[in-house]
Amino acid sequence: QIHFIMAGNRTFTMIKPHAVADNHIGGITAMIEAAGFRIVAMKKTQLSAAQAGKFYEVHKERPFYGELCEMMSSGPIVPMILEKDNAVADFRALIGATNPANAEEGTIRKKYAKSMGENAIHGSDSDENAAIEGAFFFASIEQY
Ligand code: ADP
Ligand code: MG
Repeated sequence: QIHFIMAGNRTFTMIKPHAVADNHIGGITAMIEAAGFRIVAMKKTQLSAAQAGKFYEVHKERPFYGELCEMMSSGPIVPMILEKDNAVADFRALIGATNPANAEEGTIRKKYAKSMGENAIHGSDSDENAAIEGAFFFASIEQY
């Protein structure tokens, strides 16, 4: 007998330092699970400034790059790999706009973001980047 498992595809996220420091890991993961995402991998860790610089290398010419790397290495984060049908686009919708002033009601950033930089959570912008970013934090043996 063949079981067709509708596993969907994957995205990558991390809860940013200010939201971890403010005890919002539970609130944010509850929103993620309630929206139908399955947590495939999750841990608590902290990036060095150099590791944050590598993760956000695509933004290295942007004026906020230094501030971003400093903020992302300022305390523990919670990276996760998530699975759902249409994961990347659906997760971008769940987190809301980069600027929390533009984030819609019901989004994670509307509820937990404090500013453009401290906007609570990361979400991959493509399937390709989701795979790269997930592999940055998790070995295959950590992905179930
Ligand atoms: P997103 O996280 O929504 O994909 P970007 O990829 O454009 O947004 O930017 C990456 C992160 O850099 C943002 O989530 C935010 O933390 C930070 N950032 C973006 N724009 C600014 C800005 N103008 N000032 C400060 N920080 C910013
Ligand atoms: Mg982005």
